[in-house]
Amino acid sequence: MSSTPHRPAGGRHHVVIIGAGFGGLFAAKRFKDENVSVTIVDRTNHHLFQPLLYQVATGILSEGEIAPAIRQILADQDNVRVVKGEVRNVDLKAQTVTADLGGKDAVLEFDSLIMAAGAGQSYFGNEQFAEFAPGMKSVDDALEIRARLTGAFERAEITEDPAERERLLTFVVVGAGPTGVELAGQLAEMSHRTLRDEFREIDTENTRILLVDGGSQVLAPFGKRLGRKAARRLEDLGVEIVLNSLVTDVNKQGVRFKNMKTGEETFVPSYAKIWSAGVAASPLGKHVAEQAGVEVDRAGRVPVNDDLTLGEYRNVFIIGDMMSKDRLPGVAQVAMQGGQYAAKTIIDEATNGTSPEARAPFSYFDKGSMAIVSRFSAVVKMNKAEVSGFVGWVMWLILHLLYMVGFRNRAVAAFSWGLNSVSRRRWQLVATRQQLHARNALRKLREMEDKEGIRSIEVRDNLRFGEGRDTRAISD
Ligand SMILES: Cc1cc2nc3c(=O)[nH]c(=O)nc-3n(C[C@H](O)[C@H](O)[C@H](O)COP(=O)(O)OP(=O)(O)OC[C@H]3O[C@@H](n4cnc5c(N)ncnc54)[C@H](O)[C@@H]3O)c2cc1C
Repeated sequence: MSSTPHRPAGGRHHVVIIGAGFGGLFAAKRFKDENVSVTIVDRTNHHLFQPLLYQVATGILSEGEIAPAIRQILADQDNVRVVKGEVRNVDLKAQTVTADLGGKDAVLEFDSLIMAAGAGQSYFGNEQFAEFAPGMKSVDDALEIRARLTGAFERAEITEDPAERERLLTFVVVGAGPTGVELAGQLAEMSHRTLRDEFREIDTENTRILLVDGGSQVLAPFGKRLGRKAARRLEDLGVEIVLNSLVTDVNKQGVRFKNMKTGEETFVPSYAKIWSAGVAASPLGKHVAEQAGVEVDRAGRVPVNDDLTLGEYRNVFIIGDMMSKDRLPGVAQVAMQGGQYAAKTIIDEATNGTSPEARAPFSYFDKGSMAIVSRFSAVVKMNKAEVSGFVGWVMWLILHLLYMVGFRNRAVAAFSWGLNSVSRRRWQLVATRQQLHARNALRKLREMEDKEGIRSIEVRDNLRFGEGRDTRAISD
């Protein structure tokens, strides 16, 4: 591919999809056997089942089980081409998408565009916290968190300084939404159950786990009753819940937070800190919103029309975590249903000649939300119905197996969960130095690259070996 705009041969309607998460993948699948050409671009090579990331972080599942290769999933769809690249630019008027393929640009011309680039972690303007408290948005994040969690126990085992041991055995999870609750619950089970007899110098049952949130309850979207139940279960597991408290500093030594009611500040020394407090939509949202004269909301989400399109661009759909519409939550179902709706709309118009004016508006069918608190305990909210405890856990299990991609992944997950229910052990606790250090090392490398005006590792290597090419000018 080159920087000359590219479109597939055959002259069919060309749909470009940015992102192969829940929204993008469900859109791509809906195009199966349809008379359109589809190019799906993602910066990773896998479709990530984000709701199970915490199980990778806490050693229940391996990363491969929740992140099958996009190519493999779409292998039997002849009209779909997968491109691994990071989209850096969208030109709405020229109808092009430019993706960085690692030093080379690919420019793709589209007739219709589906933007499903999701959201990243937000530190509410305190990006410096990220160095010490990773968020949980990617496979890399989950593996880094796993390495930090297991690393804390390993270091605690060998230190002879009691204060340092206490710091190492204190874990702080910031944000008491579903991810924070799930992580805190699993961390408690891991320390009190899985690792119980594996260390000689430390008692992992003395681990301290804090779940800190600025709000007045855990699991706010689930309502007061389920929030209370989840909190009680977490407390039974030994998790300390700290509410109405805003984190004011995160550094190497620990976390500082301020109680918003009393004004009291507390510093908790902690080695392993995890951030699950906020999300910010992909910056691509703001990038296209500006071109369309639309203003994004505080989380960077793009307000869309009733048919999920952007402003006057009726061929540009924005779906999932990137879009803002009727206060719909950032959950997988919203993205999946949005992807299917956008694909169906495009198919109707590209193959049947239906006009945009005839479009039925997108309507969301709420199938409910659920969060697992611990083994055998989950909370489920479906419209007015609320379920918790063991029945909730069974519902959680069935639904997640249903939505996982690929038979093998479902089978392995079911097997792992079954085993995890009857045994204390976890089998995915590998932690490497790369997992622990790569994120911050890559960040530093990117800073160096920006300073030097080059942008990929490949090209850095070329430069080192004397080719002296500038990537910004490279084309095939
Ligand atoms: C830890 C965690 C737990 C969650 N638990 C639940 C849950 O229990 N239930 C639930 O319903 N929802 C849950 N969610 C939310 C749910 O995962 C999201 O709402 C959903 O993934 C949104 O789908 P999406 O397609 O909009 O974005 P994503 O699924 O995030 O997909 C975005 C894709 O775009 C790609 N991408 C991003 N930028 C670019 C770029 N510039 N160029 C190319 N590709 C790009 C990414 O690599 C990614 O593959 C959870 C999320 C997280 C992080």
